[in-house]
Amino acid sequence: MKKLDSILQYNYEFVKDEKYKVFETSKHPEKKILILGCMDTRLIELLPKAMNIKNGDAKIIKNAGGIITDSFGHEMRSIIISVYEFNIDEIYIVGHHKCGVCKLESDYILDKAVERGISKDTINMIKASSVDLEKWLTGFETVEMSVANSVNIVKNHPLLPKELIVHGMVICPETGKLDVIINGYNN
Ligand SMILES: [Zn+2]
Repeated sequence: MKKLDSILQYNYEFVKDEKYKVFETSKHPEKKILILGCMDTRLIELLPKAMNIKNGDAKIIKNAGGIITDSFGHEMRSIIISVYEFNIDEIYIVGHHKCGVCKLESDYILDKAVERGISKDTINMIKASSVDLEKWLTGFETVEMSVANSVNIVKNHPLLPKELIVHGMVICPETGKLDVIINGYNN
């Protein structure tokens, strides 16, 4: 069975059996917190469970690395909208150990793109444009540095209130143990 068909088949039963009922909540985050984390598959359920987050508790943004690289990129846009629209008062930037984005090199991804049929001409054309492809695809040096940098971008954003609390943490993708890198209450 194709993946889409299997998802739709499951979905039909899910709705019919009213399995959604245990997830019923509002769009307003109960705990008034926002979490930015990595899209790592080990953290899909582990991260919210390890932080005692249930449906309705928090806004959660995910990307490769759980990282903010741009003060006016998509993650910051989501954060700013959440802070003002949903009265978020604390933000948790949560990196994790053994992250695939740590020490990631752009050529590693671009070589794989070539293997999957992207022509080297296309890559060279993008490299010759104003896009800094290497910087864009290169990962971070250490997760602690990445978290601290992201916290710094949020904490000093000109469109966010100074009283906004921004924490930086690292989670273990096996045990869910959290280590605090930056305690936002002290900043
Ligand atoms: Zn990761």
